[in-house]
Amino acid sequence: MLFSEHNLALRPAQYGSIEIVCGSMFSGKTEELIRRLKRAQYARLNVEIFKPAVDKRYDEKLVVSHDSNSIPSTPVDHSSAILLLSSSTQVVGIDEAQFFDDGLTEVCVKLANSGIWVIVAGLDMDFQGQPFGPIPNLMAVAEHVTKVHAVCIQCGAPANYSYRLTKDTETVLLGEKEAYEPRCRPCYFGLNK
Ligand SMILES: [Zn+2]
Repeated sequence: MLFSEHNLALRPAQYGSIEIVCGSMFSGKTEELIRRLKRAQYARLNVEIFKPAVDKRYDEKLVVSHDSNSIPSTPVDHSSAILLLSSSTQVVGIDEAQFFDDGLTEVCVKLANSGIWVIVAGLDMDFQGQPFGPIPNLMAVAEHVTKVHAVCIQCGAPANYSYRLTKDTETVLLGEKEAYEPRCRPCYFGLNK
């Protein structure tokens, strides 16, 4: 079935869905998001990528993963801006989604219900091991949830926690490489002592 690239109304509703890629820091979330979005681009689908304006670690306009594989993105201050900027797209990618407001879940549902393929990447837990921002609600309403894992620096097991090496207790702490390390459950909670 053919449909216009620029007329959302002609896009069949059954193509709309929500996918979540989540995990700890250094788990390859952004790389997996980029891989999925590039697949969609190869299929000549219109792709738009958004990230919260708060994430300024590397570049204002790029989704940048740790291996510097990147694609252009639009920084937005509030989830509602994603709806406004997605009217002519077929695939929406969202990176660092944990930093968005709680309205992101409703935004993603609206996008998917209008036939858009939504792919969201973010941290599932903060450094205290608590569910992070809108991610848990997004996981509940998504068709597909993929948890990716880092490797525990302490023991080499699959790691799903982001252990903070500094005593700073602010949840949003950028410049992550020095401040965090991935740890498995026993190493994160100190259960092996
Ligand atoms: Zn470990």
